[in-house]
Amino acid sequence: MSERLSQRYQQVQNRLHDACDKASIAHTNVRLLAVSKTQPTQAVKACYDLGQRAFGENYLQDALVKIKELSHLDDIQWHFIGPLQSNKTKAVAEHFDFLETLSRIKIAEKLDKQRPRYLAPLNVLVQINISNEPQKEGLDIEHANEFCAQIQQFKRLKLRGLMCIAQNTKDESVLKAQYKKMNTLFKQLKTQYSEFDYLSMGMSNDMELAIAQGSNEVRIGTDIFGKRNK
Ligand SMILES: *Cc1c(COP(=O)(O)O)cnc(C)c1O
Repeated sequence: MSERLSQRYQQVQNRLHDACDKASIAHTNVRLLAVSKTQPTQAVKACYDLGQRAFGENYLQDALVKIKELSHLDDIQWHFIGPLQSNKTKAVAEHFDFLETLSRIKIAEKLDKQRPRYLAPLNVLVQINISNEPQKEGLDIEHANEFCAQIQQFKRLKLRGLMCIAQNTKDESVLKAQYKKMNTLFKQLKTQYSEFDYLSMGMSNDMELAIAQGSNEVRIGTDIFGKRNK
């Protein structure tokens, strides 16, 4: 398994480098987030051993087991990228470095109170519902500015940028249009919020397209770890 993982990881790195070359940006400016949801602890550890440090998780219980088992790795970084229910905020406040799916004030209030004093403020990305699909989480573009202004009031949260999940389509023109809108919004907000520096968009199938439109964090699961069982 490790042999395959190593090959896949290298391929993803190569794609990321090529996409950055095409966009004339340094590859060190784009963070690769390895999405390890449903993968066993040993797969995360194997990926860590290849040099990967930032991991994305969607399911809290599943994530907490891995976080505990790998707690001896003190430079590993955990990003929560799934929907977060308001009764589950405490574990995120206590065990994660980033929450990438913030779109409700009530959740922010709880996280702000629950973030332990011995940790740095929790980094948060605001999720935007860029495809305007009613079943999807995230804020409408029009509400982003007001929401960010409110989030900035919380001392135990650090507002770091935006995240989106584009429409599930192979139509590149649709994806491109959505990523372009995100980039415009990101640039706008960046002038107002000093710690705004991440635009998280792009997954296994469209990372090149997202990087071309200004993404500086791609979230890659399948192409690193292989197909998920769930
Ligand atoms: C699962 C997931 C990913 C990774 O998707 P792949 O297609 O497996 O690369 C990225 N972002 C979010 C929010 C996810 O839930």
